Amino acid sequence: MRAAVVHGKDDIRIADVPTPSPGTGEVLIKVRGSGVCATDVKILGGSGLPKDLPTILGHEVAGTVEAVGEGVSGLTIGQRVAVYPIAACGRCYFCARGRHSLCTDQYGLAHGADGGFAEYVLVPSRIVELGGIVDIGDMPFDMAAMIEPVSCCLSAAELCGTTAGNNVAVIGCGPLGLLHVIVSKAMGARVIAVDPIEARLIKAREVGADEAINPQETNVLEQVRRLTEVGADVVIAAIGLSKVVEESLPLVRSGGVFNIFGGTPKGETISLDPRWLHYGEIVLTGTFAASLQHFLRSLEFVKDNHDTLAKVISARCGLEGLIEAVERTKSGAGFKTIIMFD
Ligand SMILES: [Zn+2]
Ligand SMILES: [Zn+2]
Repeated sequence: MRAAVVHGKDDIRIADVPTPSPGTGEVLIKVRGSGVCATDVKILGGSGLPKDLPTILGHEVAGTVEAVGEGVSGLTIGQRVAVYPIAACGRCYFCARGRHSLCTDQYGLAHGADGGFAEYVLVPSRIVELGGIVDIGDMPFDMAAMIEPVSCCLSAAELCGTTAGNNVAVIGCGPLGLLHVIVSKAMGARVIAVDPIEARLIKAREVGADEAINPQETNVLEQVRRLTEVGADVVIAAIGLSKVVEESLPLVRSGGVFNIFGGTPKGETISLDPRWLHYGEIVLTGTFAASLQHFLRSLEFVKDNHDTLAKVISARCGLEGLIEAVERTKSGAGFKTIIMFD
């Protein structure tokens, strides 16, 4: 099969590799849509690169069931599915409480197991047992590849307690920031989008943002205060820049929730005034992935919000377009790229 194989930092090569075959409990998926995520780009850039190389990235996978291993039931060959990417153990403290992303003994697609930037992906038995291969009905494969990133936004919205009438500030309007705009709007919030790139602000408005602020032109804190009087009920920092996370802290109102959604570079720190946290009764939290339950809810969300979500996809290309897509993601150009296979 053709695959984009990562050999090391910034070293990705499109090559022929053996097509895996499913062992007991495993399922082979013919990949049809595979989303390019900022996480892939970070890993490729050396941050969190697995020790076992070569590897195949891609954790936002949709396709059809190609073959099933011994002992697998409930799936049919040719079935159209999306794959929950975390191979959680199902037994630890966190799994018992449905917090699969916090599993103490986890691996997953593009994270210990080969991922979806390939014609086929072998789904580990743990994911199969968890019920992580999910029927998508007649949903197009590019949209089905969006179920995973949307699930992370739903997870964050739940943690933040986002409800109708809330003022939600989304800092960073890359693909995931835009998904936060869409999810927050669907929950009835008023959304204030913040990004220094004008094209992203235009897109944020297109997908429903009520306000769009360019920090290079406007004082964000003053503007958010003006719009909300007390500050935002919820702030989602959908950026991987520690400095911007720190600068965005004062946007949240007293008693509000601040969510660090974007992963920042290792070793960087932010400083905050404990008195601000204490006297402001601020809730500071983070989200990086989602549980299977969020993934299942995301499937329904993607069905219901198809037209708006489609606006976040800015490119669809074959596997040979992956390297360019990585470059675009690095430079902040375009939005979501989905790698498509026939
Ligand atoms: Zn992702
Ligand atoms: Zn676990």
